[in-house]
Amino acid sequence: MKELEGVHKFRYELKKSSPPEKKTVHTLEKWRAIFYKIGFIGEYETDNVGYGNLSMKINSENHFVITGTQTGKYPHLNPSQYTTVTKCDLEKMRVMAKGICPPSSESLTHYALYLANPKIKFVFHIHHEGLWNMFIENKVESTSESVSYGTIEMAEEAKRCVNNKNCGFFVMKGHQDGIMAYGDDENIVGNLLLEQYRNFIASGNRD
Ligand SMILES: [Zn+2]
Repeated sequence: MKELEGVHKFRYELKKSSPPEKKTVHTLEKWRAIFYKIGFIGEYETDNVGYGNLSMKINSENHFVITGTQTGKYPHLNPSQYTTVTKCDLEKMRVMAKGICPPSSESLTHYALYLANPKIKFVFHIHHEGLWNMFIENKVESTSESVSYGTIEMAEEAKRCVNNKNCGFFVMKGHQDGIMAYGDDENIVGNLLLEQYRNFIASGNRD
């Protein structure tokens, strides 16, 4: 069964404040628009649940700007649909954020990746059934089947997958269609996923 992504498993506090800087939003929007077009970001029609979320670290204290919750259905987002996460507590499952829109329900996993390696500046979480199956088949780095999104176990698994690498991707076996990519440059991370997508198409698969 497909687990509903939009449900927050952590408690969050949202301090009403102005949206993140336009420059940061533009950096993420560029890739988000591409991902939306190829279906890496969107909404499952059967249950109207959005999927896919992107973030960018904005300082050395691991503050990051992330897409807001349930924004998957929109081809383009405006700055008010992005939120700045200012503090996370993995053990207490708490997230502090500021902005207008509640942060993505995957915020804790993004945070875990920033924590895993200070060089990581971008985290892109996308969904794609075909790629997900291909990655599992090809035994690429993965989080355990028994671990679902947005939990402390997922944070630990994500850390293990990063294993001090500055850039890479892994498949979330316990989160249907879920794939995470990370790195220190948005174009490197974005192209990493596009390259995998091209491989998928080239191997005779169809979307
Ligand atoms: Zn997801």
